[in-house]
Amino acid sequence: MSAKITDARFEQDNERILGDIRDRKPVLWLNDHHIPFKNLKGQLDVSVLDIKDAEARLKRFAPFIQTVFEDTKALDGLIESPISEISDFKSTLEDVYEFSFPGKFLLKRDDLLPIAGTIKARGAIYEVLHHAEALAFEEGLLNSYEDDYTQFASPAFQDFFKQYTVVVGTTGNLGISSGVMSAKIGFNVQVHMSHEAKQWKKDYLRSHGVQVFEHKTNFTEAVNKGRQAAETDPYAYFIDDEHSIQLFLGYTTAGSRVKQQLIDQDIVVDEDHPLMVYLPCGVGGSPGGVTYGLKQIYGDNVHCFFAQPTHVPSMLLGLISQKFAEISVYDFGIDGLTVMDGLAVPRTSQIVAELMQNIFNGGYTLTDEEANRMLSTLKDVEDIFVEPAATAGLVGPERLFNTEAGRKYLEAHDLTDKIDNMTHIAWATGGSMVPEDEQELFYQNGLKAK
Ligand SMILES: *Cc1c(COP(=O)(O)O)cnc(C)c1O
Repeated sequence: MSAKITDARFEQDNERILGDIRDRKPVLWLNDHHIPFKNLKGQLDVSVLDIKDAEARLKRFAPFIQTVFEDTKALDGLIESPISEISDFKSTLEDVYEFSFPGKFLLKRDDLLPIAGTIKARGAIYEVLHHAEALAFEEGLLNSYEDDYTQFASPAFQDFFKQYTVVVGTTGNLGISSGVMSAKIGFNVQVHMSHEAKQWKKDYLRSHGVQVFEHKTNFTEAVNKGRQAAETDPYAYFIDDEHSIQLFLGYTTAGSRVKQQLIDQDIVVDEDHPLMVYLPCGVGGSPGGVTYGLKQIYGDNVHCFFAQPTHVPSMLLGLISQKFAEISVYDFGIDGLTVMDGLAVPRTSQIVAELMQNIFNGGYTLTDEEANRMLSTLKDVEDIFVEPAATAGLVGPERLFNTEAGRKYLEAHDLTDKIDNMTHIAWATGGSMVPEDEQELFYQNGLKAK
């Protein structure tokens, strides 16, 4: 970035916030390197054209996807989830934290995404398809974007892809999304799992013909193991959660989908009607990509906040310290252990942190206890189960309206007289595939946390 003129409209004591993060206290940090999006356009490494290209690729594959995944037929092969209002949850949140906020509170139901039941489906499935398409063109199996993509289900295509392997390192969910789609294409699949990966995820993948390697290490190490395995095999392709631009692009396509869904619900987003979005953040790819897609559409009329566990504040540390992926939560004496297993990533993604540093609006942390409590509350009042990681966005409005930093943010962005017109979206990033007995355990933990 040439001009480093930032948009910091507030005083913020980063040293104190780092102290609180070290003490594992919940914080709200405002991005003091934010630059108005209109000033950034044109200087960014990922362009609108890249996003359009990704959207077009997903459309080309839609006929194939609906052929092989029954649950995508309703949307003609698009992998998308509903957005629904959670007004009962909103009232309960206001009661529990003793505050109130006007406007609609919506839940983006990526827990219901077809094929994988987590937000990872957006990025991982896209990357697998991108790779498969490139190989098919190289081999001459495809000659034009107009060709019939249902051929990917044919024996000729499947035989061809059998020679190739897709490798991935993951805390679990990325393995499911990339593993299931890769297996459908015909690829061999190797998934390298870190210590928090749940047994049911390993069983599920194995039942889909995926080779699972269990590592007793953290996420970063599992990713390294996967990367090494792929490097020694010329037929292997590594989906790199920490460095992949294709994953990122897959996530960005959520922007235009959300736009259409809000139009369909008569929800206006403009300068007088801001949209506030709260996104669970692990390595940063999914919240980063979604934010990027939304900012391309709404500019700074959308405000995006990233949510992390108090025990795994990796993106916050990377951005506050400006050390990005050079710093891990362990460097801060934080253990990286959390019930929010999808967010258990000790080090942020370098490319996402760099892309996000001038774009996203802030980040906050929440405790495991809060996550547990949100999980059982959502189940009780809305009859919706989401996995622990997916609860992180649910406390977002509380951070914005019930903390000093939040009030500072609203003032600095001239939002105080627009709060009646705001729409809030918590992104529920996963849950529908969690087995029922595990759901019950999580739910019981939440009841205990009350
Ligand atoms: C991976 C994941 C996230 C976070 O996505 P990142 O790209 O790692 O930031 C959030 N929720 C769930 C359920 C996940 O699996």
